[in-house]
Amino acid sequence: MPSHELAKLTLYNMDIIGYSLAGEETVVAMPQLDVCFDIGKAPEQVIHINHLLLTHGHIDHASGIAYYLSHRQFSGQKPGTVLLPAVCLEPVQDLLAVWGRLDGSNIPAKLVPMRAGDEYQIKPNHFVHSFATRHCYGSLGFVVYEQRKKLRPELIGKSGVEIANLKKQGVDVDYTLNIPLVAYPGDTKYIDFTKNELVANSKILIAECTFVEDEHTGRAEAGRHMYVDELVKMLCELNNEHIILTHLSQRTGIGLAKKILREKLPRDVYEKVIILMALKKI
Ligand SMILES: [Zn+2]
Ligand SMILES: [Zn+2]
Repeated sequence: MPSHELAKLTLYNMDIIGYSLAGEETVVAMPQLDVCFDIGKAPEQVIHINHLLLTHGHIDHASGIAYYLSHRQFSGQKPGTVLLPAVCLEPVQDLLAVWGRLDGSNIPAKLVPMRAGDEYQIKPNHFVHSFATRHCYGSLGFVVYEQRKKLRPELIGKSGVEIANLKKQGVDVDYTLNIPLVAYPGDTKYIDFTKNELVANSKILIAECTFVEDEHTGRAEAGRHMYVDELVKMLCELNNEHIILTHLSQRTGIGLAKKILREKLPRDVYEKVIILMALKKI
């Protein structure tokens, strides 16, 4: 029986399940991609996912890490792989050692320290790319992209035999295309992502939307989050097809957040926006 319900939606045949409220808990999983962005309090529904992508060590994003890893062992699953900012490696190792002592067990984990620009293969054709964010020291965001081999445009129309012959002659008949599926910056102040093609062109952007009320601008600054006008600027600069907003402040109701976003965003951008916690829970 899950400890709590998660919001759910499906885009491009990929489920997105999660729970996200600023300061309380943030966990967003995409089971078909086998990734979970942040772990929150480790809800039951995400334990089976093999890759945890941790953006930073704040407790609302990271508190479930020991439970996630330990419960996988308890239920006979292989150790979870945790991609985490390199600065979090040692504290997480210490945390797991302490929990192991308390629990009287050894908590198995595959911890992968990441720095901005690092890549990690999660499936034969799927990779994680990490990028720097502006939230706390060493914090990272992640993009999951699919790599496809495509026939070179000048060869389109040639027969299979002709292409096979070219290959035999050592001609490189195809090129690699990276298709960014989902970008997850996590908590961050505004970043100009227009030069980061993977983020800018990701089909899905899962972004923080902590403070939407103008009078909360000071809080956004203090907590190193975006305030609403920066969020609006960022969303308008990017080409994402779907925008999922997470991490709303508990001070702001979903109805009010929607109203403010509707007023501030151009209509075509607002139509792409989904507030995670406004969705039906499972
Ligand atoms: Zn947070
Ligand atoms: Zn944070």
